[in-house]
Amino acid sequence: MLAKLAYRLVTEVSPRLTIKAAHLWAYKGARAVAAYKRRVRRGELFPPFLFLALTDACNLRCRGCWIAADGPPRVLPEEDVDAVIAAGKKQRSYFYTLLGGEPMMYPKLWNVVRRHRDCYFPIITNGLFLDNENVGRIRAAGNVTPLVSIDGFEAANDDRRGRGVFREATDGLARLKKENILFGVATTVTGKNIDEVVADDYVRTMIDRGAMYLWYYVYRPVGTDPAPQYCVERGQMIELRRRLLELRRRHPIILIDTYWNAAGEAVCPAALGLGFHIGPGGGIEPCPPLSFACQTIRDNDRDLFKTINQSEFLRGFQDFVNRRTRGCVILERPQELVEYLRGAAAEDTSGRDALAELAAGVPRASHHLPGEEIPEDYWVYRILKKQLFFGMGGYG
Ligand code: SF4
Repeated sequence: MLAKLAYRLVTEVSPRLTIKAAHLWAYKGARAVAAYKRRVRRGELFPPFLFLALTDACNLRCRGCWIAADGPPRVLPEEDVDAVIAAGKKQRSYFYTLLGGEPMMYPKLWNVVRRHRDCYFPIITNGLFLDNENVGRIRAAGNVTPLVSIDGFEAANDDRRGRGVFREATDGLARLKKENILFGVATTVTGKNIDEVVADDYVRTMIDRGAMYLWYYVYRPVGTDPAPQYCVERGQMIELRRRLLELRRRHPIILIDTYWNAAGEAVCPAALGLGFHIGPGGGIEPCPPLSFACQTIRDNDRDLFKTINQSEFLRGFQDFVNRRTRGCVILERPQELVEYLRGAAAEDTSGRDALAELAAGVPRASHHLPGEEIPEDYWVYRILKKQLFFGMGGYG
């Protein structure tokens, strides 16, 4: 598998882009994780990776999305983006996942990417803006890897994302492949599509379409249309873990999950302080589906390290999770989470009534599977998981 993956990399991706990724993503990512571990030993809180929601503007209305559809879209000012990145660099963090909404609708996207050539930017996109012009910009920049959201083959994908979306997104993949760009596909695993997307045929198809990595995200019932029928049951979660391990040995593509560590134990990236989410209003939130904040990036004269390190809300969130589960409190403990957020007087930054949505939720299975952990059985992934794997653009 490794030799085939290396062959794919050499024959399908521009050498310049591979070298950029090796330096900015792998090498600097490993250094960011090492710096993070040192901070943890000193009792400091600042993540090695950050998620920047540049805007909540989006051209799609996918079911189960947490982005507020109503009202004028918010946009994170360019100077705020620069200030966050500058603060991150001081802590050796050079990896910023750009998301939205649809980040390609952010007017200054390419300015940001060009201004910070020493950083690496996964861009989580629905793929509908991957025209020749934008693909050319990605190639010229070199420090960007598009992560295109596709949730199954045409019928399953368009069921949640809208009719015609699969075809347009896969046209975008074709343009990326033609230009030899290093890119991935982000697939949300739901209770409905799991058999289709965590399977040989799907993985093979994404390889054929040129994806070098496939990142699995497990559906969370959030947003104004939480669509709980898409939730993954406990038995399906165990099956997901089992199949992931099998697929990793079989296919020349990197299969990313941010759910389990090398021992197969559940992980909540926010509870570990591995990555926080900056919302389009500047709020510092635990993770993308949890739009609550007590601080903004503008606090403390924009001293982001001080703001995060001194945040009782983010530190309290870590305690709150760690005392209950290794998994996802959004899924497992929605009511207790509501109490925590109320007690912390956290602002609902969603633009919706996310607190009421959470309060209406029922406890569900997450990736925390005590007694049924399946350790990583492939040495490559054991190493990746121990070093930098958690930060590969993923959130739990
Ligand atoms: S496991 Fe749940 S709470 Fe933790 S980062 Fe993921 S979505 Fe957020």
